[in-house]
Amino acid sequence: MADLISIKRKESLHDHCGVFGIYAPGEDVAKITYFALHSLQHRGQESAGIAVSDGIKLRSIRNLGLVTSVFNENNLSKLKGYIAIGHNRYSTTGGNTKDNVQPVILSLKHKVFAMGHNGNVVNVANLAKKLGNIKRSSTSDTEILAYTIYKSPGLKWRDKILAAIPQFKGAYSIVACSKKRLYAFRDPWGFRPLVIGKLNDYHIVASETCALETIGAVFVRDVKPGEIIEIDRKGFHILGQIPSNKKSFCLFEYVYLARPDSIINNELVHDVRRKSGELLAKEAPVEADLVAAIPDSGTSAALGFADAAKIPFGEILIKNRYIGRTFIQPEQHIRELGVKIKFNPMKKIINGKRVVIVDDSIVRGTTMKKIVEILRKCGAKKIHLRICSPPIRWPCFFGLDTPSKKQFIANGKSVAQIRKFIGADSLHYLTLDKLIQASNQEKNSLCVACFNGDYPMEVNYNFKKNIFEE
Ligand code: SF4
Repeated sequence: MADLISIKRKESLHDHCGVFGIYAPGEDVAKITYFALHSLQHRGQESAGIAVSDGIKLRSIRNLGLVTSVFNENNLSKLKGYIAIGHNRYSTTGGNTKDNVQPVILSLKHKVFAMGHNGNVVNVANLAKKLGNIKRSSTSDTEILAYTIYKSPGLKWRDKILAAIPQFKGAYSIVACSKKRLYAFRDPWGFRPLVIGKLNDYHIVASETCALETIGAVFVRDVKPGEIIEIDRKGFHILGQIPSNKKSFCLFEYVYLARPDSIINNELVHDVRRKSGELLAKEAPVEADLVAAIPDSGTSAALGFADAAKIPFGEILIKNRYIGRTFIQPEQHIRELGVKIKFNPMKKIINGKRVVIVDDSIVRGTTMKKIVEILRKCGAKKIHLRICSPPIRWPCFFGLDTPSKKQFIANGKSVAQIRKFIGADSLHYLTLDKLIQASNQEKNSLCVACFNGDYPMEVNYNFKKNIFEE
């Protein structure tokens, strides 16, 4: 049986990162960024960083750990200025080391540039080759992107950015700042979300709208795919627009990655998940006494399922929200704690019931199998699994940390075989068309590659070395 940490890491899919940027003279931009990063913590929990400029000097604090452990009143008070960018990281390229914590800071020949990236640029090996010998201080691809900008022609950062960005291929929602300006750019496919907000008279960019609401800002609009934006005292200006041939917003943002209270492409994520639950109930009806979720990501969908199926919704698993990223592993004889520490079942409610468990997705299936075992021990009469997305069979190259293809439970297995492995009485996955219907997006504006292998671009990835190749 896998240890506790590996259960957590292998069973969930992790987004690459959360980004935030603010230009607001007179405001405590470091503290505002701290609170925004706190609300974007779900997008990356390995490390956090904030860089602040006062127009003359750019200072930063970056470290491994959650936002609450990296920052405190004391260190934040040292970040004085009026421009800030912040970043929460989950590593997909480059390891989880202190050197790789973002924002990446380039400080070369009197020029300073800080940058935070959400996504994966798939031609990073080509970009690195073009750069030749550079003095690297990390192994993250973001540093290559920052160097590409730095080495691009132009005296001003805006010219360098405009020259560099069209060379990037892949997923990038980026915030960056020089000593005097804030920048935001999003890839022309629009894989990852990026929004513009307003706080009093000043502008903000953030991965998700939940960060705007937390700090009392209002939503202005999405950064459009391919847009390159500069923000200064006068507001935000569109510096450039990379033509977008094929929009490919990540459908999995709606399924699992984004917070349910965020609005993406005009849709509240909670509503999309709820709708997917309703459609699932119609697609695969079942007789049961109770609908329950795997907290928290399955909750919105389970509510939708329960409503449409006219079966009561109830909590049966209580999630311990206070598990950090590292915790002590139990002894061999209490290994079941691996799941139980995370989810404690309420036997009194489960005993004798026919239960429908609704969840967003199944990755390797090992946690779900354990949950089913625990529910059986608690006396569940029937356990029906309903999953609000199609089976994941293909890895993601656009900013989500997925295992290799052969590690997916759905790889090479039929739904009947997966059901048998997990030990449930029935199993149904929502079909792709119905999931797209729930998202209320145009089919051809979405990336759905992890469900059907139809990648929006060619990718040259070496699984053995875990790197993108030329
Ligand atoms: S492959 Fe899947 S997770 Fe990755 S961007 Fe496409 S839909 Fe999202």
